[in-house]
Amino acid sequence: MIKNIILMGPPGAGKGTLAKMLLKEYDLVHISTGDMFREAMKAKTELGILADSYISKGHLVPDEVTIALVKERLSREDTLKGFLLDGFPRTLPQAEALEKIAIEISRPIEAVINLECDQKELIRRISGRRVCKVCGAPYHIDTLKPKVDGICDTCGGPLYQRNDDNEESLKVRLQHYVVDTKPLIDYYEDRNLLVNFNSLVALDVLFDEISSFLKK
Ligand code: AMP
Repeated sequence: MIKNIILMGPPGAGKGTLAKMLLKEYDLVHISTGDMFREAMKAKTELGILADSYISKGHLVPDEVTIALVKERLSREDTLKGFLLDGFPRTLPQAEALEKIAIEISRPIEAVINLECDQKELIRRISGRRVCKVCGAPYHIDTLKPKVDGICDTCGGPLYQRNDDNEESLKVRLQHYVVDTKPLIDYYEDRNLLVNFNSLVALDVLFDEISSFLKK
């Protein structure tokens, strides 16, 4: 079984949804920098206030802040069983820092799952995305509706639209993806770690494809 995995892809490719499905099946530590920032924002900590000033505009949180956060989380004992990095790294300096951290803590990255999706579909998915305020479960106003409007099927929490899921921020986020994150595809291809998956297929099909790859 492959462990120590990076889940990569543009905003809206389905990283969060897939991560949740994979974590139900595999005993891995989920490290989502986006979730960590959102928790800090909710608690209004110093990190949260700083992160919010970038995230609400669609910008990336500075590398030194993000790298320190992930370094601390990865160094904890529980990551020995394997981890799923979701939304990190997003820049070349982050990928280089991760390479060093992985050596320091002797937990080498074993695979980079790259979700491919076209821009039109990304915009459709993100502009209709709703998320549960309590458990973070994802929904979509057209394709993944809750049973009761505005209420999470899983925990009954209220659904909301992320404040960075608006048209203005989305443009900036997609630009950051192209300029900062896309170069990582070559970076990991050069290291023979990259595996591409088409995220336009049905979610259960995509999950099965990734699952069979991880069980290899
Ligand atoms: P996500 O939930 O992964 O879409 O992340 C939400 C937002 O958090 C992103 O649009 C960024 O502003 C910020 N963020 C998450 N991960 C990173 C990262 N690795 N580097 C910089 N900013 C990040």
